[in-house]
Amino acid sequence: MAEDWRAVHAQADAGVPALRQAFLDAIAWLAAATGWDVLTRALQLNDPTSALAAIPFDGLPARLSPTVGILEDVATRTADLTLARTLAQVSRQATIGLRLTGGMPTEEIRRWAHEYGGLLIQDLTTETRRAVQGILESATLHGQSPARTAKLLEAVVGMNRRQAAALARYRTALEAEGLAGTRLERLVARYAARQVRMRALAIARTETITAANRGQLEVWHRNIREGVLRPEAWWVEWMAVEDDRLCPSCLELDGQRVRIGQPFISPTYGEVAGPALHPACRCATALVRA
Ligand SMILES: [Zn+2]
Repeated sequence: MAEDWRAVHAQADAGVPALRQAFLDAIAWLAAATGWDVLTRALQLNDPTSALAAIPFDGLPARLSPTVGILEDVATRTADLTLARTLAQVSRQATIGLRLTGGMPTEEIRRWAHEYGGLLIQDLTTETRRAVQGILESATLHGQSPARTAKLLEAVVGMNRRQAAALARYRTALEAEGLAGTRLERLVARYAARQVRMRALAIARTETITAANRGQLEVWHRNIREGVLRPEAWWVEWMAVEDDRLCPSCLELDGQRVRIGQPFISPTYGEVAGPALHPACRCATALVRA
């Protein structure tokens, strides 16, 4: 049904605070566990490799591991809701007297959450490390002072590469205005904290939408296996939700119909299994009668 996306979004949104906080907690741990003195000394000795090693990125995946459970919860709650709605939708069309029962795809969702969540954690860790590495490399290249570089790295921990590069430019611009000392560091730290919070929120919004849509899809797959859904009788329709975050790539997909389990074709991104199409995407899919 066309209004189903609201319920799917509600399930996704319910997981946002926990996922956002899980990311922020992991980053707070990373910053606290870093040997900043060791890092500064390594920079003074012109040893960027040891400087980077002072930030324990290898411990980040374990700290991000609550993400898996949160994705599983969102997918499970959405699956529960989808199951009830699908059974109601199908039985309205079914012959009188036909009793439909469907089971929850609990194992499938768990497997998905572990696989997908594991890859997501790897990606987040890699991107976070690369952001720091990029700043370190350019600071070394430009012969910046160890103290300045260490301060910049401290601010950059938790950002993605784009944010880190923007922060470096921001700091340079402030310095060009004549700012220095505590005032400069305070402004940089405030900007940095805000960017990390924004990254946490973007991750949480994107990944909960992905999990909610996945929960829906796993139910439909299971329904097909159980004979509740006849795959040839239904389409899955892409619905670009017209809110403030609607983007052109999502609009291109709006209304596209595929068979259950088949990929959608995005002119921009190619084959996609379903939303989220891009960070902070708010799209949904719905089952419609063929
Ligand atoms: Zn979208």
